Amino acid sequence: MPPTEARSDAKTGTPTPASRPTGPLTSAFESWGRYPRYQAHIVPMHWQSEFPANIVGLHNGVLPVGMGRSYGDSCLLKDGNLVLTTGMNRLISFDPNTGILTAEAGITLAQILDFAVPRGFFLPVSPGTKYVTLGGAIANDIHGKNHHVAGTFGSHVTQFELVRSDGSKRLCSPTSDPDWYAATIGGLGLTGLITWASLRMRPIVSRMMDVEYTHFHGVDEFLSLTKLNADSTYTVSWVDVTSTGRNFARGIFMSGEHSTVPGELKPSPEPKLFFPFEAPGFALNKFSVAAFNTAFFHKQMQPYKELVQDYEPYFYPLDAVLHWNRMYGKAGLLQFQYAIPWEHAREGTIEILREVAKSGLASFLAVLKVFGDIPSPGLLSFPQPGITLALDFPIKERLTFPLIERLADMTREFGGRLYPAKDAAMTAAQFQHFYPQWEQLARFRDPVITSSFWERVTGERPAL
Ligand SMILES: Cc1cc2nc3c(=O)[nH]c(=O)nc-3n(C[C@H](O)[C@H](O)[C@H](O)COP(=O)(O)OP(=O)(O)OC[C@H]3O[C@@H](n4cnc5c(N)ncnc54)[C@H](O)[C@@H]3O)c2cc1C
Repeated sequence: MPPTEARSDAKTGTPTPASRPTGPLTSAFESWGRYPRYQAHIVPMHWQSEFPANIVGLHNGVLPVGMGRSYGDSCLLKDGNLVLTTGMNRLISFDPNTGILTAEAGITLAQILDFAVPRGFFLPVSPGTKYVTLGGAIANDIHGKNHHVAGTFGSHVTQFELVRSDGSKRLCSPTSDPDWYAATIGGLGLTGLITWASLRMRPIVSRMMDVEYTHFHGVDEFLSLTKLNADSTYTVSWVDVTSTGRNFARGIFMSGEHSTVPGELKPSPEPKLFFPFEAPGFALNKFSVAAFNTAFFHKQMQPYKELVQDYEPYFYPLDAVLHWNRMYGKAGLLQFQYAIPWEHAREGTIEILREVAKSGLASFLAVLKVFGDIPSPGLLSFPQPGITLALDFPIKERLTFPLIERLADMTREFGGRLYPAKDAAMTAAQFQHFYPQWEQLARFRDPVITSSFWERVTGERPAL
């Protein structure tokens, strides 16, 4: 099979390795929230065989990274070395009989889709953007709109290779080195470099999706719709976090299925829009966001709508505008995502939504979803059965961080936990409470690998 071509800057919004300097410290690599911003050396990788020779003699630790689509500091290493994997992006094999695709870890899900969709296959689990790498998807054990029926991404990874900084290699699967398999899935890149992985794809017969959009008012209506649609493959809701009173927690529940009517199977067009500059800090405020939310809710006039639509706007509405994170201005944004178990999921969600509405800080990107009970294969995986809510907050001095800390404490009181891939603010005490198994993961950590997130929440430092 011919190697896939590396994506250009214009397509993915992230520089390709060839354009990255290897020498001096640079802040060219940002996480999606653009906070915090740290300098690091970039070590670009094109071939699996380059590692670990390419980190010999480096100081201050190493971290493998992909597309930098994590929001906070789990893909950053202050003054250290980022092993950038996006140049290591070749397809290795594909078996249409089993749907098993094997590729190098730096390939993006967008590149996989471009290859697989024309052959009648789709990703088993997809996040809200396709501009993430296979390695990044494994290291955060990402979840998608089908979590309740498919579990996490890691559940569909049949095997991968892990290379340690001492050059040793492990073939990891549920049956071969299963403890390393579990530690690496959701292991935040700390156990070593994933060089390649095999993924079980799902068959499709068309690009099109059969989609239903339904208005709801309040968390109870959201939960009723979830129950009613328990058998739908993909479900997710947008929720208005600015409204109070009669409109408190109103939203749109979306459910979708791959169309069973055979249709065109072609790759997606290149995105044409991009956010060209950093918006001024005042552009996103409680009035503009509330106005957007009201308009978005009423864009769909009828309380219920059915349509057939392409998978791109259904799965990746935000990918249509590259660099949309610039909309939050220079200061950047903080994401906040919790998973609260069923026991307190309803009351926790109501209380947290109340607190957010009171603050007037949240943005329009608020996603509410139910996690199912398929166990995640990862030691440190985030999802757990219950409700998950993801929110964006523009960073505002003296307002955003105290609010996030309050919300994190509330999450803790309701027995939930936060998602490291979306975090730049949880305290060490909060993290260690949410993930008491972190010490087990620490035993699998490669001695030279670390991240700013890991140092912040555990105090551990690299041996390099
Ligand atoms: C718009 C948007 C929507 C999103 N929606 C979702 C969603 O619905 N569900 C969800 O779960 N997440 C979601 N995310 C988060 C995103 O899917 C994850 O953060 C993902 O892991 C990012 O992948 P990446 O390639 O950008 O990796 P990076 O962010 O660069 O790195 C992520 C982690 O992977 C590690 N890593 C990367 N490559 C390797 C490798 N080869 N070997 C070992 N470790 C490696 C890094 O060390 C780091 O710990 C979303 C993000 C955005 C921007």
